[in-house]
Amino acid sequence: MVSQGKVTDVSIQDGVAVITLDSPPVNALSIALRTAIYDNLKTLEADAAVQAIVLIGAGRGFSGGADIKEFGRLPQQPGLHEMLALIEGLFKPVIAAVHGSTLGGGLETALACHYRVAARSGKVGLPEVKLGLLPGAGGTQRLPRLVGPEAALEMIVFGEPVGAEIALKAGLVDAVADDDTLKETAVAFAHKVIADGAKLVKVRYRADKIAAFKGDPAVFEAFKTTHARRLRGQDAPTACIQAVQAAVDLPFDDGLKMERDLFMQLVQGTQSAALRYAFFAERQAAKLADIADDTPRLPINKVGVIGAGTMGGGISMNFLSAGLPVTIVEMKPEALERGVATIRKNYEATAKKGRLTTEEVEARMGRLTPTLDFDALADCDLIIEAVFELMEVKKEIFTRLDAIAKPGAILASNTSYLDINEIASVTARPESVIGMHFFSPANVMRLLEVVRGAKTDKPVIATVMALGKTIGKTAVLVGVCHGFVGNRMLGARQEEANKLILEGAMPWDVDRVLYDFGLPMGPFAMADLAGLDLGWVRERSTGSNIREILCEMDRWGQKKSAGFYDYDAGRKASPSPVVEQAILDFSAKQGMTRRALSDQEILERCLYPMINEGVKILEEGIAARASDIDVVWINGYGWPAYRGGPMFYADTVGLPHVVSRLKAFEADHGAAFKPAPLLEKIAAQGGRLSEV
Ligand code: NAD
Repeated sequence: MVSQGKVTDVSIQDGVAVITLDSPPVNALSIALRTAIYDNLKTLEADAAVQAIVLIGAGRGFSGGADIKEFGRLPQQPGLHEMLALIEGLFKPVIAAVHGSTLGGGLETALACHYRVAARSGKVGLPEVKLGLLPGAGGTQRLPRLVGPEAALEMIVFGEPVGAEIALKAGLVDAVADDDTLKETAVAFAHKVIADGAKLVKVRYRADKIAAFKGDPAVFEAFKTTHARRLRGQDAPTACIQAVQAAVDLPFDDGLKMERDLFMQLVQGTQSAALRYAFFAERQAAKLADIADDTPRLPINKVGVIGAGTMGGGISMNFLSAGLPVTIVEMKPEALERGVATIRKNYEATAKKGRLTTEEVEARMGRLTPTLDFDALADCDLIIEAVFELMEVKKEIFTRLDAIAKPGAILASNTSYLDINEIASVTARPESVIGMHFFSPANVMRLLEVVRGAKTDKPVIATVMALGKTIGKTAVLVGVCHGFVGNRMLGARQEEANKLILEGAMPWDVDRVLYDFGLPMGPFAMADLAGLDLGWVRERSTGSNIREILCEMDRWGQKKSAGFYDYDAGRKASPSPVVEQAILDFSAKQGMTRRALSDQEILERCLYPMINEGVKILEEGIAARASDIDVVWINGYGWPAYRGGPMFYADTVGLPHVVSRLKAFEADHGAAFKPAPLLEKIAAQGGRLSEV
């Protein structure tokens, strides 16, 4: 009977109406779908033949939430609030039957229903915080009333969805159904509700899970303290906590108003704009200007990895986990053994946490073939080199690879800095050579810089970009230069950090400023973690910089419990008086007069040269768009996503300000700070970097 175009379908049998949401791909709650649901409910409420209503989704899931296309536009009626008010206030029980993903507004819709039945494999969640927002359609008020404030805080503040069984245990859903009988189970549930007197359970009136916490901030304070480090500097999680607290302390309608006010503040704020930008930037990175979507992909059925060190092991894990067989080649048996043992140890640690079965650990290890025989790579479709960072060694490896790899095999290097074109030049097939720059730890970090050589074939690029997705990475296509996008910009920052400690700051001052900015750690803590001795040789050491001086003192970083910092047995860092003295002595020797540096100057000196370097990268065409640079920094270096990446951040502080500070630094400290012409041009035009 009632049917609204294509987006819903309604059927009635034995007093139970089923409204099926059918708006592919994810049943986003667009104006069309909201209108259809609203009108259907109105009609069914007036229909004497209907005693209860089941809301169910067709396709992949119940609903993925709000229609992101409507963001920033004038809201059209009925809004989500009106639709939910209608559902909750209906005189007939409404049962949500959810499967697949039920997220954001989708879950808020289910929460406004009188009952919820979930398919066993389904997931429910409120991920709005990931876009710098909070659930703005009653989610922060209804969820705590169903599951209590503690569980609600976990779900709303971190935005991770939970499975059906967990949702059942928490009280979020009333029943779990087998996946293939969700509809039948929900209809049977509806009949039972009718038989029991068609009770309307309105979540807004539930108090049993929150009453004990009313007026007592302890649970909220404890949550803030526990997660202080992770949540620092971010607006949305703070607002989420405030809204859940309001659910406990205030009457429902007042809480709803508080939720709406907080939502409005967030949606107009810079952090949410940054997070929404980052969300689209990541999708954009997969689109390649000169490589058509239908470019043929090469079949990758077997992967080879050369080197079982820090990177080779992690790189292999990505493919093993994705179901691909990997042959890993080493030079020395002990290195091979150590590398394989580390892979196993990592998988077993995941299994211990319950995130992997022991069978799956064995299946993954079973796909790994460790060998010392280079010729074993002959049947691999993709071979990734991860040996020492020395051009001569890389060239030797690629010469050998060229001789044994099968025709058409992709030959990749994980080099951090070296010239892919020079590496490719030793082969007779430079069109098959490409950079695959993983980040450490390679099995964890999401970024993959795909480095396109001058002669790399388009199908090779398309294949590697797609493969990145298969192994769960965010792949960004970049061009050849020293350090590519990420490390080149990091280098610009490191250079300044090194100067700052000679001019007057201490390593912990610089680190604290960058940590407070939102980065996971500053440059000196990072150097201690990586090892100060990387690339350092005692015989050639001349004490020409602080790093060399510390290496000569056997302060090699965390591995020696001493580097820029002193480390205790638990690896907790504390400022080192020895290092402080070494820095004072060295700057005196250099004839420097130390001065006090403000936090603001430290921040600007570290970040603006990086931004300037990013613009040069754009000018040179090493990155196709500014947003690609931001994706690199968010996914590879822990740049806080709520600041949108260095290019977006520059826009938020104002390009004219960045240019004028760079010019002031140029006057004081030299040409390294000279603003890139493109930066000056965009600033003068009043443009935005992140739109380049
Ligand atoms: P590593 O020293 O931990 O491992 C290198 C391994 O390669 C060693 O086990 C060594 O025995 C092996 N090896 C050397 N020559 C070989 C040969 N001819 N045949 C087979 N095996 C050989 O180094 P790593 O940190 O894993 O770095 C490897 C590469 O990855 C370098 O190019 C580095 O720049 C790059 N990279 C490193 C990181 C990082 O954070 N460590 C990050 C990104 C990229």
